[in-house]
Amino acid sequence: MIRNQYPDEEREIRERLARIRETVREEALRAGRDEQEITIMGVTKTVPAHRVNLALAAGVTLLGENRAQELRDKFDAYDCGPEKIHFIGHLQTNKIRDIMGKVSCVQSVDSVRLAEALSQAVLNRSDSLAVFLQVNIGREETKSGFLPEEMPDALKRISELPGLRVEGLMAIPPRGAGDRYLGEMAQLRSQMAALELPGVSLSHLSMGMSEDYPLAVRWGATILRIGRGIFGERDIR
Ligand SMILES: *Cc1c(COP(=O)(O)O)cnc(C)c1O
Repeated sequence: MIRNQYPDEEREIRERLARIRETVREEALRAGRDEQEITIMGVTKTVPAHRVNLALAAGVTLLGENRAQELRDKFDAYDCGPEKIHFIGHLQTNKIRDIMGKVSCVQSVDSVRLAEALSQAVLNRSDSLAVFLQVNIGREETKSGFLPEEMPDALKRISELPGLRVEGLMAIPPRGAGDRYLGEMAQLRSQMAALELPGVSLSHLSMGMSEDYPLAVRWGATILRIGRGIFGERDIR
């Protein structure tokens, strides 16, 4: 990419990111956490590739992709490879081939069936893939993910699938709910880690978006998934 082709956008993204970093630093300090263990993910849905690249140039180290088709369209234009890209949207099994080789983690594993299909796809590539289990912590009908009581069984079954490494939990708590569900996620992670299932690490807790990321830092989030806070309001599609 030609440097400074988009100076105003570059400045805007840098300033937004700097403010978010500052808030994360303050909240981490307050919570007695090491800010190094917290990653600010740039969520790219509807954002043109050149703006995503400005965020990468500004120091964003991880991208979050919601849509297989959109990732396929933008991937070649990104100034980064799969190691910096996680899939975070609902994934249909027939779209798996569109994202294979373009992401290093699927954070949105919301059924054992999807995990089985991912395992199969990964084995065909003689590869391995990190996965997070998505938890429907607010028990919302409109959201996918495992219910908390389904987690022990799901975790056990998915951890036994070849080619997948279970490394974390992900949640999209109900909007405006404050601390409640963030706290429940923190508790769920401890409970699931206590099962000590072989091959399951749960070192990551992916939660916190533009509106609640400071709270999420307090509750132990390790990946903050921020879209509008970095890129500005999205065009509605
Ligand atoms: C869009 C989205 C985000 C980011 O939302 P913002 O409010 O723009 O920060 C995070 N996680 C998921 C799964 C999303 O779809």
